[in-house]
Amino acid sequence: MSDAARYKAVIFDMDDTLISRQRAYRVYVEEFYDRNIGLHSTDRPEAIALMIAWDGRGDNDKIEYFGRLKRRWPGLDMPIHELIEHFFGRMAAAVEPDLEANRFLGELSEAGVPWGILTNGESKFQRGKMATVGLDAIAPFALVPSETGDQKPSPAVFEEAVRQAGHDASGTLFVGDNPRTDIRGAQGIGMPTAWVKAGREWTDGTPLPDHQIDHVTELRALLLG
Ligand SMILES: [Mg+2]
Repeated sequence: MSDAARYKAVIFDMDDTLISRQRAYRVYVEEFYDRNIGLHSTDRPEAIALMIAWDGRGDNDKIEYFGRLKRRWPGLDMPIHELIEHFFGRMAAAVEPDLEANRFLGELSEAGVPWGILTNGESKFQRGKMATVGLDAIAPFALVPSETGDQKPSPAVFEEAVRQAGHDASGTLFVGDNPRTDIRGAQGIGMPTAWVKAGREWTDGTPLPDHQIDHVTELRALLLG
C-alpha cells in the first residue's frame, strides 16, 4: 500500500508545527529583557539565551518558569501572576501566520483530506492565536483539550481528534514537534506520526516517528499525492 493511500486524514499540533512559537517567543523575550532593568545585571545575549533554554519550547509550567526567573534576577519585581498575564498577552500579539502552512492546509481542504488541530495550552490564549493567524477560519475543527480539563499526551484527546477526522487511528497521521506530548501520545493510540524536528535529533528512546520533517509543507506529496 502506498503512503498516499495509507493516510486518510491528518491531525496537526499548532505551536511550532503550524505557526512558529519559537519566533514569537524570541520577539517576546527580547522585548521583556529591554523593558526590565532588573535583568540587566546579565548581558542581553546571555540573558536571552538562558530564558530560551528555560522556556523548553513552551513545554513548561509557567509558575515554575517565572519563579526561576525571579530567583535568577531578584531585581525582577513584578509578581508571578502579572508576569504570566503579560507573557500570554505579548505572545498572542507576537505570533504571525505561516502563509506557506496556511496555503498547504487550504490545499488539503480542497482535496477533501480531513484535517484538524489538537493543541495543548490555555483555551483563551490558544483560540486567540488561531484567530490572529487565520487558522480558526480554515480549520475544519480545532480541539483545545484544556477546555475539558485534559491535555496531550492523554489517549482520550487523540481518540477524540481521530473521531472528528472520521477515520481509524492507523489511517490518521499526527504531525507535531513535541516528542512526549505529540509523537509518543499519538503512537500510544496507534497513529502514524510525523515529527517536526526543527534541527533536533530523535533522542526520545521510544520508537522513531514514521516521518521527520522541518516544515509541514514537506508532507504535501505524502498527503496530496
Ligand atoms: Mg508544538
